Amino acid sequence: MENIAANLKKVLVTLPDGVRLVAVSKFHPVEELREAYDAGQRIFGESHVQELQRKVTEMPSDVQWHFIGHLQTNKVKYLAPYVTMIHAVDSLKLLQEIDRQAAKHDRVIDVLLELHIAEEATKYGFSPDNCRELLASGVWRELQHVRICGLMMMATYTDDTAQIRREMATAQQLFDEFKTEFFADEDSFKERSWGMSHDYPIAIETGATFVRIGTTIFGERVY
Ligand SMILES: *Cc1c(COP(=O)(O)O)cnc(C)c1O
Repeated sequence: MENIAANLKKVLVTLPDGVRLVAVSKFHPVEELREAYDAGQRIFGESHVQELQRKVTEMPSDVQWHFIGHLQTNKVKYLAPYVTMIHAVDSLKLLQEIDRQAAKHDRVIDVLLELHIAEEATKYGFSPDNCRELLASGVWRELQHVRICGLMMMATYTDDTAQIRREMATAQQLFDEFKTEFFADEDSFKERSWGMSHDYPIAIETGATFVRIGTTIFGERVY
């Protein structure tokens, strides 16, 4: 049995000011989320729409739900009424659909653009060039119901900490470039979402503002 409150505390004391924790609760039952909630955690990360739908109704209404998984455009409508942030936007089509669905609820939804920097071929996300092209096109400026707040990435899953550090540093460089080029006047473009259980200490050193941590807090997931 995991001591979730104790695990949470252990993580929180390692986070400097300016780095916020997304407690990744996917595949964990609501009772476990509630333990984290009772210990003060408010930001929870989920990656499956149906599972999140169910948990939303069972958790207190002041939880901030961050959707961190790959999102299909046809599922955006289910999240639009309540989601606080969508971390892994990886196409213009998805960005436009979030805008359209958010408009229906008279909301502005915060999103991050997902970068593909890792070596694994299976990961989603924009290549640096495609991300730059999207931003340079300016089409996103016309979307009134979506706010691009920064970048998200997953480093390669490896024990090679130098490689992880290199990938995260690349993401941070791209953030700095995009901030200067496209968001110099937008205070809301400030978030860097990288770092998971095995690599978040490196993420803290390479500019992360959100770390997404599941296993270290809730234990191993049972799929
Ligand atoms: C599951 C997941 C995490 C958390 O992973 P842990 O190794 O359990 O900390 C972080 N980010 C994303 C995108 C995930 O899908």
